[in-house]
Amino acid sequence: MSTSSILVIGGGFSGITAALEAAEVGHEVFLVEKSPFLGGRVSQLNKYFPKLCPPSCGLEIQFQRLKKNPNVKCFTLAEVTAVSGDVGNYEVTVKVRPRHTAPQSVELGDLAGKLSKDVEDDFNFGLSTRKAVYKDVPFAFPPRYVVDTDNLTDADQAVLAQNEYIDMGEKEKDITLNVGSIVIATGWKPYDVTRLTLLGAGQITDCITNMQMERLASPNGPTNGKILRPSDKTEPKRIAFVQCAGSRDENHLSYCSYICCMASLKQAEYVLEQYPDAEVSIFYIDLRTPGRYENFARKVLAHGKVRAVKGKVAEVKEEAGKVWLTVEDAVAGNKSTDSFDLVVLATGMQPSVAGQALPLDLPQNDEGFLVSDEAKGIFVAGCAGRPLDVMKSAQSGTAAAMKAIQTVRGR
Ligand code: SF4
Repeated sequence: MSTSSILVIGGGFSGITAALEAAEVGHEVFLVEKSPFLGGRVSQLNKYFPKLCPPSCGLEIQFQRLKKNPNVKCFTLAEVTAVSGDVGNYEVTVKVRPRHTAPQSVELGDLAGKLSKDVEDDFNFGLSTRKAVYKDVPFAFPPRYVVDTDNLTDADQAVLAQNEYIDMGEKEKDITLNVGSIVIATGWKPYDVTRLTLLGAGQITDCITNMQMERLASPNGPTNGKILRPSDKTEPKRIAFVQCAGSRDENHLSYCSYICCMASLKQAEYVLEQYPDAEVSIFYIDLRTPGRYENFARKVLAHGKVRAVKGKVAEVKEEAGKVWLTVEDAVAGNKSTDSFDLVVLATGMQPSVAGQALPLDLPQNDEGFLVSDEAKGIFVAGCAGRPLDVMKSAQSGTAAAMKAIQTVRGR
């Protein structure tokens, strides 16, 4: 028997959008997110295009809509492990990991402060640490702490055992869902920069990624929004952006990641807002600023403190507390070496499921992005399908929801 329920896998911006679009026209929607909180990559940004809003402005509206809509059932810490059946009638197994904290929203910051072990905070891309009881996502949804059981010492377990809001007896469980169509919105991950050793990534502390820059500039980030060098916490005066770091390169990602030129121009503005006398250099192959972003690009590039050099970075090294870049200038036809306080690698995006086995049979293109299978009623939304900015991700979430609705309504 067919069902009109819809499963959305992935609780980032496109997944939430797809879930709400389907729920608001009356469909039961299951939204499954593997991390402890919804919001995805957008929640890690300082500001996002097109209006350069902070992520709270878009996400909090989405979270309010989710809270008000009983048609959406959200599962965090949850992963789809098996899918059987066919379009109109899929049986989906979801593994839900325990959160170990009370169902009601309780402030557990003091408890976390009593724990001994510091754990590298993935949310801040290693620029800070957290404890094993944490809620590191600002305006977190759900607003509940989570216990990271992989990082509990014996002493910390004893501390937690004393707290009435901690339930270490909570067990992992499998639930079964019956849905007629599936939207895959599993999002993206930054390209693994440790593979970019020639550009200093993972070796030179003041050579950071564009996503680390977002966290440095964010008021809720590791430096409370002050852009500081990770090595010595000083203010950078000369900043370089290295474009196409790992993208458009047959040895890494062969495609253009679409967002990283705009990200660097946006981050040049972050720098100049904080340090008007700073000097910003952008080293690029092409600057790709499609459509309405052209005007923004023109404005940033016209700033007297911004220098854009068409050229490839041939070497990166650290010396005397600076990062030295050797660049082959494609226009002047020469090679020059210059020093910077901070270098930002404009790293690209990969589908988050790259290299992983999927619980359902879905085609992937040559670049590893997922492809919708209309006959099966499985639709890909957001950056799981291709590199997109936030606005286009939301649009593709809406489009995928429309397709899923048509599927379960029999078209
Ligand atoms: Fe390179 Fe710009 Fe494309 Fe990113 S958006 S891969 S930096 S050309």
